[in-house]
Amino acid sequence: MDRFKALMISRNTETGQEVNWRELALSELMDGDVLVRISHTTINYKDGLALQARAPVVRRWPLIPGIDFAGSVVESSHPEFKPGDDVILNGWGVGETHHGGYAQYARVNGDWLIHRSEKLSAAEAMAIGTAGYTAMLCILALEAHGITPNSGNILVTGAAGGVGSIAVAVLAKLGYHVIASTGRSAETEFLTSLGAAEVIDRAELSGKPRPLGKERWAGVVDVAGSSTLANAISMTSYGGTVAACGLAQGMDLPASVAPFILRGITLCGIDSVMAPKAKRVTAWTRLASDLDRDKLADLTVTEPLANVRDLAPKILAGEIRGRVVLEVD
Ligand code: NDP
Repeated sequence: MDRFKALMISRNTETGQEVNWRELALSELMDGDVLVRISHTTINYKDGLALQARAPVVRRWPLIPGIDFAGSVVESSHPEFKPGDDVILNGWGVGETHHGGYAQYARVNGDWLIHRSEKLSAAEAMAIGTAGYTAMLCILALEAHGITPNSGNILVTGAAGGVGSIAVAVLAKLGYHVIASTGRSAETEFLTSLGAAEVIDRAELSGKPRPLGKERWAGVVDVAGSSTLANAISMTSYGGTVAACGLAQGMDLPASVAPFILRGITLCGIDSVMAPKAKRVTAWTRLASDLDRDKLADLTVTEPLANVRDLAPKILAGEIRGRVVLEVD
């Protein structure tokens, strides 16, 4: 097969951009030393931003969006990959400046790929996706700074979303007392079923931050940024660690230095896109062992890739619970 279907974002002088299904030849893919037949992809917050042109995610046109995918190698001149290998890709600018996962095929640099563990199916890998892999990068950062289940409570913001729901499930399995913050009280039972010990209303964290608040948690996984992150920092207990990965509330950070200089807390920035390969392999290995498969299934819905354009406004509006796997065929 040398022709395949792909979703393509093109520039449009009147509307800014247009998003259409196209049939392409394999020769129209970008350079790379591994050709992958994609079986599953997913929608992340960043994909929503790209499809809705709400932030400058796409920086080359025309471009196939989709920042991650799972599939099998069809052709390879890369020493680590051979035809038939099962692979996962997250980030590295795929879906931003290099053709991405919303297609039947992708040609990429083999250095960007990792082998998919036999413990995870391709569908499970995309149920985790960049969101779940980022949740694990946050947890690895907490651990690297000495946080253990004995350190105290862990706050997870945006808990009913993709990063948040996987963070809750993994932290609970690891034995942490998880405080899940959500704006959707209707998801309290869902969050408790994932392992949250307490569920709080995100309004508690979205108001004007005080320099120092009552010490409520030893660690934080934050997807919101802005006042939520500032409040989370101000309520982190002495010596605690905050992993900041998102901007669902905003990109600003109206915080005080008080928690840093009076409580010695650490703020860790989490980036999934350019994270080195060794860190990725560690994160995916830990996800294969530390994420309960039944809980992953409970927080996942499966849709055809054909529906992805309808899902984009929903993920930006915070209306998607957990994760969505997109089947490519
Ligand atoms: P989702 O849309 O699945 O989840 C985001 C959640 O944030 C929502 O479900 C909602 O949870 C909460 N939320 C939405 N609006 C607000 C608000 N105004 N104030 C507080 N909370 C809010 O997205 P993802 O989980 O995929 O991504 C979350 C964030 O992490 C995004 O900003 C994304 O860009 C970022 N991210 C960063 C990565 C990195 O490399 N640093 C990689 C992956 C994601 P609830 O309804 O429970 O309140």
